[in-house]
Amino acid sequence: MISSNFHTHSVHCDGKDTPADMAARADSLGFFALGFSGHREAAFSNCTMTPESEGRYRREIEALKKQYAGKMEIYCGVEQDYYAGRRDGYYDYAIGSVHWIEKDGQYLCVDWSAERTRENIDRHYHGSAAAYAADFYALEAQVKVATGCDVIGHFDLITKFDDAQAIFSMEDPAYRAAVMQAVDALASPGTVFEINTGAMAKGYRTAPYPAVGILKELHRRKCAVMINSDCHDKSKLTFGFDAAVEAARAAGFTTHVVLKHGRWEELPL
Ligand SMILES: [Zn+2]
Ligand SMILES: [Zn+2]
Repeated sequence: MISSNFHTHSVHCDGKDTPADMAARADSLGFFALGFSGHREAAFSNCTMTPESEGRYRREIEALKKQYAGKMEIYCGVEQDYYAGRRDGYYDYAIGSVHWIEKDGQYLCVDWSAERTRENIDRHYHGSAAAYAADFYALEAQVKVATGCDVIGHFDLITKFDDAQAIFSMEDPAYRAAVMQAVDALASPGTVFEINTGAMAKGYRTAPYPAVGILKELHRRKCAVMINSDCHDKSKLTFGFDAAVEAARAAGFTTHVVLKHGRWEELPL
């Protein structure tokens, strides 16, 4: 059973609940650890922390660390977008993510809606989903270098609204080639990729990211996985964890990675 979550958002960025309410809920679920991962500021987005809210975020989580000392481990992490630059050394850990593609002088959001995804492809890629995917995975390939992250967040986020794999399928050679470029760039032994159930929690997907076909490639390369729900609502702290464990096992993983006593550790699945 998974009793931790290291990808969570609070009112300090685009989440619903306060860190204190989320911690209380995690404690009631018997968590041994809860990590917060507020979106680091990206100037062109209003879903991220601001310098002011980041200060409050840090102070509140420091207070929770003290409040739960000896009972539940609290970590102050950050979700660092590709365009937010290198992570700040203050944070206990960083999740590196790609949420936008800079194209034609705009930042195209890849996880806004099915309509926006279709519009991005039609308007900016002449209808070529393969070209869109190629640009996304070219950024993904650089996300560790660009952010200095510890964990690769929702690796195939562009599939958020494509549960049926109608647009992005590993069976499609062009899509697969785009994916594999990023896998080859990132997936050295021990690299941690998260299995993220966030889109399941929001009702967009029936399976977590990344697709099992990608997870199998990561397992072949001796990468590690961390299970998170990308939680924006305290009632979703463990949403889809059974499906995430199932996906990990289907790809050959027998362990998952957590932060425990401040160190990265593998626990049995
Ligand atoms: Zn994200
Ligand atoms: Zn997130």
